[in-house]
Amino acid sequence: MATAEQLERAEELLAGAGLRATAQRATVLAELAAERDDVTAQQLHERLRARGERLGLATVYRTLRLLAEAGAVDVLSHHAGELCYRWCGDEHHHHLLCSECHRVVELVDCELDPWLERVSREHGFVTTGHRLEVSGVCADCR
Ligand SMILES: [Zn+2]
Ligand SMILES: [Zn+2]
Ligand SMILES: [Zn+2]
Repeated sequence: MATAEQLERAEELLAGAGLRATAQRATVLAELAAERDDVTAQQLHERLRARGERLGLATVYRTLRLLAEAGAVDVLSHHAGELCYRWCGDEHHHHLLCSECHRVVELVDCELDPWLERVSREHGFVTTGHRLEVSGVCADCR
């Protein structure tokens, strides 16, 4: 079972994302919070089942998609067609993704803005944001 603290954090995040904090959503999110790297809906569903939670796979899928649409969790893709989810920090960040395992490293010190502003200006662009995902192989898989 998720700890009371994890459930509380989950409920806060749901409220912050403008989503009703149902018990099911909080349970899914709290389980996600326990993961250092990222997980697929299927993996998360299996873990919840192993803990005796009676949630259907469709519910887990729906909940994760809803959370991702609300910007509350990040969606990552290591392999084509496989969506993974991760509960990251609130600040602007990027990911290093291992293409062998599911290792995710969160990079918070983004230094791309000055470069982007310079190259955008050359093309008459005004940048409003950017996304970046870096794939590679982690230290354990190398
Ligand atoms: Zn993230
Ligand atoms: Zn790896
Ligand atoms: Zn950035």
